[in-house]
Amino acid sequence: MADTLYQTYSGELPPGCRLCEQGAKLVLFVTGVCRERCFFCPLSEKRKGKRLSWANERPVRSEGDIIEEAERMNALGAGVTGGDPLMEPEKTLRYIGLLKSAFGSGFHVHLYTAGPVQEGILRALKEAGLDEIRYHLIDYHRREDTALWRSIERSIALGLDTGIEIPALPGTEERIISIARRLKKMGGGFLNLNELEVSETNYREVEEAGYTHKSDISYGVSGSEETALKAVSALPDFNVHYCSSGFKDGVQLRNRLLRTAKNTARAYETVTEEGLLFKGIIERVEKDISALEKIRKNIIRRHGIPGRLIALDHGKNRIETSPEIAAFLSENHPDKRLTYALVEEYPTADRLEVTKTRIG
Ligand code: SF4
Repeated sequence: MADTLYQTYSGELPPGCRLCEQGAKLVLFVTGVCRERCFFCPLSEKRKGKRLSWANERPVRSEGDIIEEAERMNALGAGVTGGDPLMEPEKTLRYIGLLKSAFGSGFHVHLYTAGPVQEGILRALKEAGLDEIRYHLIDYHRREDTALWRSIERSIALGLDTGIEIPALPGTEERIISIARRLKKMGGGFLNLNELEVSETNYREVEEAGYTHKSDISYGVSGSEETALKAVSALPDFNVHYCSSGFKDGVQLRNRLLRTAKNTARAYETVTEEGLLFKGIIERVEKDISALEKIRKNIIRRHGIPGRLIALDHGKNRIETSPEIAAFLSENHPDKRLTYALVEEYPTADRLEVTKTRIG
């Protein structure tokens, strides 16, 4: 059994998970619509039930946004998710086709669905280039979903790499083990178990269902990890993968941020260990972009700073430069109308600011 700090698996990791671990998967959220009402649904109010798409943290206004976001992170594949992306099958098929034609057939695409999926849609997904399908077995601890199992069977027969992905509900290891055995017998590829976790939107429902938060430093629910680990150990002859809530944030998300930051950093930005962009900024009390451009040219002339190391940021109405140059200018370019600061930002399309420290 291979083991790391936050994930454990028997057999092999599914290809989609290998790329996700490297932070190389674009997260393509097709729609917030879903026919299910899982008590543990982690979707935010901003997304839940809305017919809106997101490429990572970027709202999709045109197909160009998806391509641009995949390029920003140098993605090697995409995880197509929601809601249930198959509540909007035409859009899902269009997006998969778009990614495959832009980045080639080797660009690995996996899709999540709460199914069951009609045979015609499965065929269309296969033709569009879908590589891997992951079924959510809703209420797996309480009921047998015959239609969903038939859909799983059809996916396998069509040659899609087919797996099941469920949260490990505490105390359900026997049920999980029987699901894995059935899937293996049918020729399915893998079972993914996620740690059941609380979020801002589901904590009440999770508590009402009788589960408790395991600690102040984790979103995980008590007993979920233990249940998953029992199932993984009982199934050494199948591909069973457990992913903790800490692994998703601490490894997958961090690796995606690092990958994007390294790929998009400007000459004056430093990439931090957390995948943030660190830089210096100069702001003018009165926001005026043409006045800022004059100040920038004046700084270049007076202090001999190369133009590529000091740039105008039109969106944020400020001058950006390296932390060292900002520190130097705060001492050597006094001007009452200017303020100097060091900032850290996410390398996301909206470049969300995480810290800001005034200097000088
Ligand atoms: S299937 Fe997924 S998106 Fe739909 S309600 Fe359940 S957890 Fe939420």
